[in-house]
Order: sequence, then C-alpha cells, then structure tokens
Amino acid sequence: MVKDTKLYDLLGVQPTASESEIKKGYRKAALKYHPDKNPSEEAHEKFKEISGAYEVLSDSQKREIYDQYGLEGLQGGAGGPGGMNADDLFSQFFGGGGMFGGAGGAPRGPQKGADMKHPISATLEQLYKGRTAKLALNKTVLCKACEGRGGKEGAVKKCTGCSGRGFKFITRQMGPMIQRFQAECDQCHGSGDIIDPKDRCTACNGNKTTSERKILEVHIDPGMKDGQRIVFRGEGDQAPGIQPGDIIFIVDEKPHEHFKRSGDDLVYEAEIDLVTALTGGDFHIKHLSGEYLKVSIIPGEIISPGELKVIEGKGMPIPKVGGFGNLFVKFSVKFPENNFTTEENLKKLQEILPQKREEDVPKDAEIDDVVLTDYSDAKHSKSQRSRRAHHDDYDDEDDGQPGVQCASQ
Ligand SMILES: [Zn+2]
Ligand SMILES: [Zn+2]
Repeated sequence: MVKDTKLYDLLGVQPTASESEIKKGYRKAALKYHPDKNPSEEAHEKFKEISGAYEVLSDSQKREIYDQYGLEGLQGGAGGPGGMNADDLFSQFFGGGGMFGGAGGAPRGPQKGADMKHPISATLEQLYKGRTAKLALNKTVLCKACEGRGGKEGAVKKCTGCSGRGFKFITRQMGPMIQRFQAECDQCHGSGDIIDPKDRCTACNGNKTTSERKILEVHIDPGMKDGQRIVFRGEGDQAPGIQPGDIIFIVDEKPHEHFKRSGDDLVYEAEIDLVTALTGGDFHIKHLSGEYLKVSIIPGEIISPGELKVIEGKGMPIPKVGGFGNLFVKFSVKFPENNFTTEENLKKLQEILPQKREEDVPKDAEIDDVVLTDYSDAKHSKSQRSRRAHHDDYDDEDDGQPGVQCASQ
C-alpha cells in the first residue's frame, strides 16, 4: 500500500509499476506537455510536475520514502521533487538532441536558477499589428568589481564547516528509514566560503552580486495569443556557480470594447438600423488594423436580429502559417422609437410588409383579454418578487400601514 498516488498518476502508471513502465510513462507524459509542443502556461506547469514525479519515482530510495510517507516524507530534504530543472531532465532523458528543435542539448551543466515570469499586457490592436515594448527590470548580476568572488583574489577561503557546499546534511530516523535532510551551513550562512572582513569586496559588500537595471526589448508578434510565452534565455538573476534562469514574459490580452477574439477569428457585434436591415445599405466597422471596413447589405437581403455573417480573411493574423482568420459579424437591429410615424404611414407599412401569419386558435377557445405593460425592474424583477413574498410572510408592521397584499392574507 502506498500513502498517496499523485506522482504515479502524473506519469499515468500504477503504484506497482516497474522501472521501465515508469520510464515509459514519463516519456509519454513529458512529450505531451513539453513547452515546445504545448506553449500554454498550464502545460508548462504540468511538464515540471511530470519531471518532478519522474525524478522521485526513478530513484528507488526516493520512491521508497514517497511510497511510505507521501510527499511530506520528501519535503525539506534533498530529495523533493522539482530539485532538478525540468528542461535538463528532459534533455538528459532524450539524449539532448533537441527533440523539437529546441535549444536543449546541453550536457548536465551547473544547476539552473529560477525563471522569472512577468505578465506583458497587450491590447487586441497590439496583438493584431505586433508591438515592440522596452521593459526595464532590476536583476541580480555577478559583481563586476570582484568578478563574483566576494573579495580580493585569494582572500576567499572555502568554508571548512561544509567543504564549500553551503549546506550540511542532517540525518534523522523516520520509522524504519534513515533520512538525510539538507540544512544551510551555519558557519558561512550558505555561501560556501569565508572572507576576511578586510578583504571583502566593497562594491558588493562580499555578497558577490549586485543589482542592475536592464532594458529588454520584447517583441510581440502579430497574432500572438493570451498566455503565450516570450522567453529570454539565461536573462534571469545571476548567482555564483549557477546557470541563470530565464526571463519569461506572458502575454496578457486585454478585453476589447468592440471585438471578441476566438483563436484566430474575431467576433464583432454590429447594430444596424431597421431600415438597413430591411432595405439594405452600408455600414462601417473600425477594424483593429486602423482602417474602416465598409460593409454593404445589398437591397433585397434581409438581416434578422441575431443573424451571424462572416467577412473572410479579416480576423487575426495567423502566426507562422500566415494569412488571417475570419471576422464574424453578429447583428442586432435598432428598431424605431414608439410613435415614430403617423397612423397613415403605419397603414402603408402594413400593406408593404409581408402579411401576418395565420394563428391557430380553436373557434371554441376561452379567450382572456390581457394588458401588455412595460417591464419595470423595480416592479417585475425576480429579486423584487421574492422580496415581496418575504414581506408578505413576516412583515406586517414595518411600514406602519398594511399594504394591499398584506391585508389580503
Ligand atoms: Zn564584489
Ligand atoms: Zn559553510
């Protein structure tokens, strides 16, 4: 019996799976969610989870801890999932040949720093035309004065407490298992080395890194979608001994006043006048491109309220493939105001318009003559009705005088 099956589920295998089944499960799941194949943010998270799951389950010792204690058993220690970079694991697993023509393929290099994610907002116009944004970021860089050493050359000594690793292992007994935990070295506070205060670099105060303002040019290509990632490889924070992570911009599409987007297509709601709907005429759509589209309804063509038409090739640009999606036009019809014309004219209209359909009321039907009144939110909305019902049930005295409804009870 295993404590929890989450990691097995991620790889789509049973807790009883053999080593090779786990390998196969990882291969299948990782290929499916690899960022080059599936650029969405969720897929990327999933990809990392899958890598973390494989890291644990492919290691018999970690797997044993996980089976017995679940994820908590692995937390805080050296063995938790996600300790290794998902991309590195992927390229290691697949031989690093750049499975999808990606930039992978590096042999197991130094540990990679965390990626930094920033949303980049874009209007639909900007996503249509494309846009270059210059963004300033503060990032941590290796100190230039001491070249990231923290002090004068030769003055930096390896910490003897942790042999320069920056952390120590602590052993703990957990049930029948001996588990090793990793903790920051208290002698060097995790830096891995000791510097004599007088030799300490004054530019970075011995920290090895400084903060720098960096300007990045972010290119939003025409047709990019909400959630799409723009990656600057290796532009993340620098730290001694690690490979910097990436800076990732995530496109955040702002809602548009007139257009809705549906993949590569656009949807536009057009309100036309009744006269145009019945007798034809032109109307204009201000497009995302900045130009006005002149749309002609040919006399004889009738537009009903809610009708959907398509203007082909006037949707969003389609990246890589080229061309454009379609523009859907959803019509509503603006009817005239009450009493817009004389009774005489209405008679004429009656003669012109198609005649009323025959109704199907039986000869002997009982007929109730009812009154059509204007709808009023205050009087007819659902919440008003339930409030009145509530009032009827419990409240006779609140307003001092029994209302008509109250008196009727
Ligand atoms: Zn320095
Ligand atoms: Zn130390």
